[in-house]
Amino acid sequence: MSWEKVYTGETKCPCGTGKLFEEGISDDWGQYRTSRYINCPKCKSLYHYESDYVTGSGEIHEKVYLVRNAETLRIHRTNNAVVISFEEAIAERYSLSGIKHAYEILIGASTYKNISSREFCAREIMREHKYANKTMKMREVRENVSNSILKYHDYEYNQEKVEKMKKEVLSRSFGPIYFDAIG
Ligand SMILES: [Zn+2]
Repeated sequence: MSWEKVYTGETKCPCGTGKLFEEGISDDWGQYRTSRYINCPKCKSLYHYESDYVTGSGEIHEKVYLVRNAETLRIHRTNNAVVISFEEAIAERYSLSGIKHAYEILIGASTYKNISSREFCAREIMREHKYANKTMKMREVRENVSNSILKYHDYEYNQEKVEKMKKEVLSRSFGPIYFDAIG
């Protein structure tokens, strides 16, 4: 199996004295891989590449950044071994207004089947409750969702705090980077 270079892109580095490169390689089976390089000693000592994935009009777009070496866009609790409650888990995944809206939907529905398929967040929350607490009993789900709303601001990694931390990291990053195709 042979890999062949099919694309090269370049642009200026943050300090302007060197260059950033992007290379796309493809094999006989149509697999595609991208590699990126920092061709500047100064910028290489300060930054590393990271991708941020943003959803827009139903598609996922990759945005490429040079992030400061001591930082990352993938903000998460340092101890992954911690088992967190259903209440905290949904606070990490959704905005407070999203959970409040889901709660209203759960108040108006007697079972999972009554929830409209358009109410994606409410349905996801029900499924997460089943996974975490082994039940979809509406009374219990409502009570736990209500607890999550009450304690939302106490959770260190709630979705809104993580988004804010990510924005701060992005403000110190370089990008999004657009490479000019040179071959
Ligand atoms: Zn540079």
